[in-house]
Amino acid sequence: MERLDAFMARANAAYYAAHDPFRDFTTSPEISQVFGEILGLWAAVVWEHIGRPDPILLVEAGPGRGTLMADALRAIGQVAPAFGSALRVHLIETSARLRAAQAERLPGAIWHEGLETLPLEPFVLLANEFLDALPIRQFVKRGDGWTERFVHRGQFVEVPVECFHGLADREGGAGGVAELNEPALAIARAVGTRLTNQPGAALFLDYGPEHSAAGDSLQALRDGRPANPLDAPGAGDLTAHVDFEAFANAARDAGAVTHGPIPQGIFLARLGLFQRTDRLARMRPAGQAAGLIEAARRLAEPDRMGRLFKAIAFGGPGRPPPPGFERYLPLRIG
Ligand code: SAH
Repeated sequence: MERLDAFMARANAAYYAAHDPFRDFTTSPEISQVFGEILGLWAAVVWEHIGRPDPILLVEAGPGRGTLMADALRAIGQVAPAFGSALRVHLIETSARLRAAQAERLPGAIWHEGLETLPLEPFVLLANEFLDALPIRQFVKRGDGWTERFVHRGQFVEVPVECFHGLADREGGAGGVAELNEPALAIARAVGTRLTNQPGAALFLDYGPEHSAAGDSLQALRDGRPANPLDAPGAGDLTAHVDFEAFANAARDAGAVTHGPIPQGIFLARLGLFQRTDRLARMRPAGQAAGLIEAARRLAEPDRMGRLFKAIAFGGPGRPPPPGFERYLPLRIG
């Protein structure tokens, strides 16, 4: 019998060690090159805000195929060459297989298993669909108390828990499920603590509701289709919604200023997704141009990836809001 987070960690480590995850799902940087390009320019503006430190770490957590970072570096080289010369690429990646794929596109990068070994220097951290892959715990409301879910031979087994890990205000009705992503909260605290010592910022794009919500969001994709998350660990990709409210609270408790979450569609539109896409499209043959525009719409439209996906940023005290998170801009989509 294994606690759910141990099961999920083992299943995803096996999955990312053995599969090309992009066979089963497509992420924003794989949909449009403009995604990585505008995040690179976001990092360049943040670098200006914090006084152009040299060197600066440009960090990505969970870089997948390295597409986001490659697109970001290309745009930075064109538009912000001084930032390009000052930055050092650091990647947080546990999968040896994906590290090898990243090394082909990002020569000169330095890899880490986690945040702990990053040098204590000014930094900009980017992460897309990283938090949703981290292992969660699940608790179930039963009568007056709570149980925790373990996995045994492909089935959930519930074990009563004494104390309820600070999730009491999230209870649903009887049988309601509350989720806890401890590694994500540890990352929020670690980034928050760094930001009280080093100038910098962090940007996370991921999927989940704006406020903590009760409910079981664990899901598996296998061979491109939804599958039972408890079957065949390692054969499919396991993810869960990110609890942005808890994530932001953990960063604030550690001393960071938090911005958002705001819907991904609004964030990307504010950063110029459509203007940049239009400019690229005009330089391409008609068939490719239509594909680029369609890709931008997929990232931003509310009934596609524009609303369920969110952007959230952490910064240091006393800095202006990072690009896209300006408070006075209207929050509309569609
Ligand atoms: N950001 C990429 C890939 C998302 S898939 C994209 O948008 O396309 C999740 C990524 O996080 C993969 O690179 C995976 O190997 C990595 N990853 C998963 N769990 C991790 C962990 N605990 N520590 C570091 N990297 C992890």
